[in-house]
Amino acid sequence: MAKKVLALGEVKDGELRNVSFEAIGAAQTIADGGEVVGVLFGENLQAHAEAMIQNGADRVLIGESSELNVYVTDAYTQALSKVLDEESPEGLVIPHTSAGKDLAPRIAEKLNSGLVSDVVGVEQAGDEIIFTRPIYSGKAFEQKSVTEGTVFATIRPNNVAAPAKDESRSGDITAVDVSISDLRTTIKDVVKKSTGGVDLSEAKVIVAGGRGVKSAEGFKPLEELADVLGGAVGASRGACDAEYCDYSLQIGQTGKVVTPDLYIAAGISGAIQHLAGMSNSKVIVAINKDPEAPIFEVADYGIVGDLFDVIPLLTEELKKVKT
Ligand code: FAD
Repeated sequence: MAKKVLALGEVKDGELRNVSFEAIGAAQTIADGGEVVGVLFGENLQAHAEAMIQNGADRVLIGESSELNVYVTDAYTQALSKVLDEESPEGLVIPHTSAGKDLAPRIAEKLNSGLVSDVVGVEQAGDEIIFTRPIYSGKAFEQKSVTEGTVFATIRPNNVAAPAKDESRSGDITAVDVSISDLRTTIKDVVKKSTGGVDLSEAKVIVAGGRGVKSAEGFKPLEELADVLGGAVGASRGACDAEYCDYSLQIGQTGKVVTPDLYIAAGISGAIQHLAGMSNSKVIVAINKDPEAPIFEVADYGIVGDLFDVIPLLTEELKKVKT
């Protein structure tokens, strides 16, 4: 049955994140031929709204406010609640990012609906929409459908296909009043830790280092390889605890959950808590001196060797392929 479904886009550092388009893809499947309405909050959103239309939204609502430039729980809950009151959609899709994970349960409470969180697949089966989501730290998957109320899901970046871009598409872009009041918290300043140019949670390629990297200096060859591949650098908690890199790079149960197309694990043993953050990557390459390291059990390709020999070789060969 055709539905009206809202897809919340996410703007970070002035850029519209790719997961916004993936949210539109999920919303299209849920809408089942109905209307997909993009939603954006912040300032200077016109170009992003047009991009959402070119990438499959039928129209876009923009809530302009300087208080929505950076994610603040109260402000976003108020703004999205207002939009939901006005639109009364039958479905809502939010990116499963740090902001989305914080926002979604508050909105589910407001909608008095269920929430299917951390979705990695959305498909139609007859009249039902089936959501696939990982459970037990990615060791298994469950499938769920929503039988009552608003169909509400958060989608994990890099998993649901975004619709193909079509520059000839057009649609209404409408400003909505989202005047924010009585904020209990405000952001005074955002202090960023640099993790290189590519956002870890959306990176298509990740080169991750573990305690085997041995020092902060030891991350340099990994950075060079990530650079050649246009990817991001990640790390195990072992490497972060040893102060070889910042905790913002940590991947795993208590770090970031990532699903890149290619995950290169160098000098990482493959502890269960690390696997929880990366085992659903599409292709895993492990480089480890120890042939018995558990990381090889989840790897598609394993290289038994010293990462300080293997990684520069890989980088050199890839540079040749690129030129
Ligand atoms: P090690 O286990 O020490 O492995 C280093 C590996 O490097 C070894 O396999 C070794 O053979 C290899 N090596 C050494 N030198 C070289 C070389 N020159 N070339 C190639 N290979 C080499 N961990 C996470 O990663 N993420 C989490 O989110 C996380 N959350 C946790 C939560 C809890 C509650 C707990 C208890 C633990 C958590 N951990 C997490 C820690 C986890 O259990 C492991 O301790 C950690 O992942 C080990 O990091 P490592 O693989 O880098 O180090």
